[in-house]
Amino acid sequence: DVVLRLSGLEKVYNRGLESEVAVLKGADLALAKGEVVALVAPSGAGKSTLLHMAGLLDTPDAGEVEIGGAVMSGLGDRRRTIARRRDVGFVYQFHHLLPEFTALENIVLPQLAAGVARRAAEARAMELLDEVGIAPRAAHRPSAMSGGEQQRVAFCRALANAPRLLLADEPTGNLDPATSDQVFKALTGLVRGTGLAALIATHNLDLAARMDRTVRLEDGRVVAGA
Ligand code: ADP
Ligand code: ADP
Repeated sequence: DVVLRLSGLEKVYNRGLESEVAVLKGADLALAKGEVVALVAPSGAGKSTLLHMAGLLDTPDAGEVEIGGAVMSGLGDRRRTIARRRDVGFVYQFHHLLPEFTALENIVLPQLAAGVARRAAEARAMELLDEVGIAPRAAHRPSAMSGGEQQRVAFCRALANAPRLLLADEPTGNLDPATSDQVFKALTGLVRGTGLAALIATHNLDLAARMDRTVRLEDGRVVAGA
């Protein structure tokens, strides 16, 4: 049951310029439903580039992106955006929550944008906050929350519209080890509870070791291993 399949992805930046750099050179990866996979590589290896392709934020020069069995690479911008909003949740190193809204509202807003009724959206937001152990923080603004709490809200927001795929770029990069651990547990709980697939770029090898498996980006290709 494959959620994400990347086949032969290639990406060159600044083609034809002196600064030309081939970042992906035939990257292949498949994620099954329910899998939490660590993506590990040094800075500059192309982790963000790969996540942007997988998440339909950018298009590869060659190769295919399939989500839930649908080939995305041929889609135009508009249909790709629709597919992204429906199928993909993103989490970044910094939470990017809206500062003037409460934790609850930050999780409600993307649902309203997707056409969910307010009452149902609030119920789902509370359920998600409860699952990651911060229901009592629902009415707080991000500035009144700890870094770990903010990041847990960001995960809830990413999952608000029940995507098939969660992509995270250094989601614990800004947190101390104990908090990272807590945030990671919340994340895996959410993923296991919903059966989506998650690809998590991280420099934290302790966390990577606790995921289902680790893949590395090496010279533009995805290879198995710790
Ligand atoms: P990582 O996430 O592993 O640090 P990135 O995917 O951000 O790697 O970057 C891979 C390489 O591609 C780096 O050399 C980076 O400078 C370059 N790069 C990334 N995005 C762009 C861009 N939009 N334009 C030009 N070069 C880029
Ligand atoms: P946009 O067109 O949406 O502004 P870009 O194509 O400029 O996006 O960049 C895509 C992503 O790559 C962004 O996350 C940006 O921060 C990152 N990026 C852009 N240029 C570079 C670069 N030279 N090195 C590393 N990352 C880059």
